[in-house]
This record gives sequence, C-alpha cells and structure tokens, in this order.
Amino acid sequence: MSDPQARPSLRVEREVGRRAGVESGKGTLLVVTAGVHGNEPAGVQALERVFATLEARGTRVKGELVGLSGNRAALAQRTRFHHTDLNRLWSAENVAELRERAPALDHADQREQRELLGALETLLATPRERVALLDLHSTSGGGPPFLVMGDTLQNRELAFALGVPVLLGLEENIGGTLIEHVGALGHVAVVLEAGQNEDPGTIDRHESAVWLALVALGLLERSDVPDLALHTARLRAPAADLPPVVEVLHRHDIAPEDEQRFRMVPGLESFQSIERGRLLAHVGTGSDGQVLAPFTGVLLMPRYQQKGLDGFFLGRRVEPRWLKLSAVMRRMHLERMLGLLPGVELARADGNVLSVDPRVARFFTNDLFHLLGYRRQEERDQRLVFTRRNDKL
Ligand SMILES: [Zn+2]
Repeated sequence: MSDPQARPSLRVEREVGRRAGVESGKGTLLVVTAGVHGNEPAGVQALERVFATLEARGTRVKGELVGLSGNRAALAQRTRFHHTDLNRLWSAENVAELRERAPALDHADQREQRELLGALETLLATPRERVALLDLHSTSGGGPPFLVMGDTLQNRELAFALGVPVLLGLEENIGGTLIEHVGALGHVAVVLEAGQNEDPGTIDRHESAVWLALVALGLLERSDVPDLALHTARLRAPAADLPPVVEVLHRHDIAPEDEQRFRMVPGLESFQSIERGRLLAHVGTGSDGQVLAPFTGVLLMPRYQQKGLDGFFLGRRVEPRWLKLSAVMRRMHLERMLGLLPGVELARADGNVLSVDPRVARFFTNDLFHLLGYRRQEERDQRLVFTRRNDKL
C-alpha cells in the first residue's frame, strides 16, 4: 500500500487511559475514541498527553473520562483498515450480525469492532447522568478542524462549545459510523476532524478539543484547566473565518473497481468554495474520467489517500437562525403535525418513522424534516423513509 514503511507503528492498549471521580454514576461519562482509522494516530497521542497531564496535576474529575483506541491492528500497521473501514460497520444490521456471528469468523477489522463494542457496552452498563462520545479523526488532505454530528439537540450543546464548524447530514450520506451507533442510543456522539493525519498540529488540536469537552460537559471546572485560553485559541484559530454550520448534500461515490484509480486534483481543501463544473478529480486518464463539481458549494474531505470509496463531499452553509428555529419546533413537538401534510404518513404510531411520497412532498424537500429532527434513511417502494433522531427534549 502507499503508507510509507518508514513511519513507526503505534502499539496501543484498547483502553488508552481512565480517570474517574469519587462518586460512581454521578456526572457525565465522556468516552473519547481515537485511531478508529489506523492511519490517524494523532488522536491517540493527544489522549496520552491529556491523561499524563491529569495525572501530573493530580486533577480530580466529576464523572468519568475514558480513552479508547479504535483499530489497534491497523494503527500498528499505520494503515486505514485491513478489510473494511471500521467506521462503516456500525449500522443496526451490522451490529446485530456481529452479535450472531461466531468470533472465529471475524476478519481483522470485525475483531476490532467486537472488542470496541464490548468495551463500550461495559462502560454503558453502569447508569450515568449523561454519556458523551467524542470520536477523534484526522484527514489525508489538509484543512481546518471541524465537527461532524447527527443534528440532535444534545449534540449541539457539545458541538458549539468546541467552536469549530459543524457538519450536519454526513451520516445520511455515509452510514454505519460509530457516532451513528452511539447517537441512536440517545447519547451525545460527535466526531472531531482535527487536520492532516501526520501534522503535529493535529495532535495539539485534538488535545485542546478534549480539554474543552471536559469543561463543556462539566467533568472539569474552568479553573482546573489553567491553559484553557490557549486550548480555545489553538483549536479555533484555523477555523475562525469559516461558516459555523454546513449541511452535507452530496457524496461522491467511488466505484469499488476505481478505488485505486481515483485521484483528487492536488491542492484542494475542506471548506474551500467550489463553483459548479469545476474539475475536482480524475478516474484514470482521459476526459471521460473527469469528476466535476455537480453544484456550487463547500468542498469537504477530499480523498488524498489510496483507500476508501468516499471521494469527496459537497455541502452548503446553514444559517444559525435555522438551528434556533428547529430547536423551538422540536420542543413544541411540531412533528406531530407532519401526518397532516399531503403525501406524509406516519409509518409508526409514535411518529418516529415517516413514509413520504416524493412527488407530493417535493415542496417540503428534506429541509422541513431535518428541522424537525428527522434523517432520511432509505427509499422503499418509491417512498422516502425518514426516521427521527433520538432527541432528549
Ligand atoms: Zn478517520
């Protein structure tokens, strides 16, 4: 593979560190996962720093902080994954399949998933006031830090406390992510993308994000983190001029047979504005292999590594007033009115699943459903199925 052999392998325990308050079950459990992709070691290194500093300062936390490594076998090889992307295996169907399957039949990445799932379930078995997952990632291309989440009200609180741009709707475009699994349980679950995989600054930004999360979630007081201002500035500075919220509208799907042949045009970065029709990538040589931007928008996560079928994403800016409006609409339970709209049927009596006629409901597009906390799940019998995210109101 293209990963240079020269990079040192990273051998790490499943549990990178743990710091618990005195009263068990009180306060928030913050789980920070890192290295779910094996070519993204920066999160693991950041966690090691945070635990070392907490230890050196003798800082007490309220609640519990646990750091978990993701794909240990892939981290040891500095490769993204061996067979399957560990961050695409967490759909409800896949997790059910994993529970049914004999462990001896697991491939390398499924073994990692089984262990990680076990570690999470052990942690979640203890009742807590609140559970939050912060999943640390980095990208093959450069670019500013940003946050990825399903748009639940509980996620917004942590996301906006970190103060970097927030991407909505990504999980509708990829599916099977670890935050999807944990978010569906009703917990806070967000991803931080902190920069380029090998950039030492990425370790810094991950570290700063963990400190900010510890304060935002109440595990630490501001006074417990004497360098909090530095961490705030260090995380936010590279993203200062960017839109606060972007909704992902398009994923460029790479055909499996083109995985090795797909090449982004050099020099593109996340959050770059892109005009419709701009040349973004090549598949092989020749003009029929040109990949052009399908509309004018914001480029996200261009693929500059050899592996994976996500070529790039395109999104558009969301005005913060829409988010405020949607919080009000959800607290008023306006979704109960959706069944009155033409072409919209409640597929379940509780209103958590909607079946929408795409012709009749075209005037509402996806926006209304997003505002009310639904995500588009699938097309079934020529109708769109939306499911409601697990908002804690
Ligand atoms: Zn990643």
